[in-house]
Amino acid sequence: MNVAELRVDEELILRMSGAGPRYTSYPTVPEWHEFGDADARAALVRASTKPDEPLCVYVHLPFCARMCLFCGCTVEITRRQGKVDSYLAAIEKEVAMTCELLGSRRKVAQIHWGGGTPTHLKPDELRRLYGILSRHLDVQPGAEISIEVHPHVTTFEQIDTLVDLGFNRVSMGVQDLDPHVQEVIHRDQTTEETEALVAHCRKRGIGGINLDLMYGLPEQTEATFAATLRTIARIQPDRLAVYGYAHVPWLKRHQTALERYRLPTAPERARLFFVAIEELSKSGYEVIGLDHFARRSDALWRALEDGTLHRNFMGYTTHPAEEMLAFGMSSIGDFGGAFVQNNHDTRSYEAAIHAGKFSAMKGLVRSAEDDLRRAAIQSLMCAMHLDLDELEAQTGRRDLATHFARELEELRPLEEQGFCELRGRRVDVTPRGRLFLRHLAMVFDEYLRKKKADRPRFSKTI
Ligand code: SF4
Repeated sequence: MNVAELRVDEELILRMSGAGPRYTSYPTVPEWHEFGDADARAALVRASTKPDEPLCVYVHLPFCARMCLFCGCTVEITRRQGKVDSYLAAIEKEVAMTCELLGSRRKVAQIHWGGGTPTHLKPDELRRLYGILSRHLDVQPGAEISIEVHPHVTTFEQIDTLVDLGFNRVSMGVQDLDPHVQEVIHRDQTTEETEALVAHCRKRGIGGINLDLMYGLPEQTEATFAATLRTIARIQPDRLAVYGYAHVPWLKRHQTALERYRLPTAPERARLFFVAIEELSKSGYEVIGLDHFARRSDALWRALEDGTLHRNFMGYTTHPAEEMLAFGMSSIGDFGGAFVQNNHDTRSYEAAIHAGKFSAMKGLVRSAEDDLRRAAIQSLMCAMHLDLDELEAQTGRRDLATHFARELEELRPLEEQGFCELRGRRVDVTPRGRLFLRHLAMVFDEYLRKKKADRPRFSKTI
């Protein structure tokens, strides 16, 4: 990839920087409503009718030792070890209740542990959690087994334990390596720590290393961020995600502490993201989609090239499991035609599970129209095209040119921007359009259409 080929500049990035969903789900979370134990059970019973379908499994581990001030995740700050013990007991029960309703030992194609800081767990706790999953589920040979780790708190012993358990992908939060930016955001992580952990993971045979960076942080400048990107290029992760910092102190009160520092303005944010694209292109990274980049040697790039890329709550993936089980507080599952999200509060989550009930709090059973639009959005974001003939074959419908006539018309201005090419019943996303996939997807979001005036809950698209 090179920037000239993408024909992208900071002015374009700024112009496209309105609010918009990331479409890890459609319909998106703000459209979901109250859900409960009975809804979760009903969805699992529906999911049990497809016993041969492989599944993805997500486990949310919310514990962190210290709060990073930019954090937008659902976390619990604690140093008390008893917390992990009682949480794992609840996960054990939740997994058993779920698998009992599924009725058969299901195959698993992908496992991801996110957080929080999953490596807040000690080696024996990591083993205990993996044992809980493997007792009830059949992890397939070749499954992707991944975990998020914080380099400052992760030991080589923990990595060795994960390797023994079969983990083959590690995702590390880095955000920014500049010491002043780190001090401001309460991130305490030296370049040496990150490099040493990456080297150890590679030495132990972990084939996939993802690093996450963040732009738009307080006190970040083009020069400091470019320096971070050059160091990252030296470390050579296989994949990179470069997320925009979402300043939402009304949702995350700890972010208020960042307001005493200089937050980049919208044009500065655009410039910072452009710096990321420029530096990463010089270092041999390709745009996958949105804010994800990968080396040409990485499976994600190959999946993009051969049209087998997928997307779920964990982001882009090469593993094609349709449904996802999710365990732990705040986790989101996708099974039996429904999205199901657990309670955000650890105590309420554990209490519900120990009372023999699922702690589902929010969710949505998708309609046929939701599934159709979801398939259109998935196709644009993963296959980088939308072919109405393909979609008709997939859904059994025969009227999609009429059904989506308004959407195809609304894509015209985006075609003029160079984000896509319309040819009759087919839309192709251009390399430039891969950076602005949300805008193409938003055209097919009928909930968004109905409430265009109200957007405060979405993060910035850049
Ligand atoms: S370690 Fe990660 S999850 Fe925990 S507070 Fe920091 S950014 Fe948030």
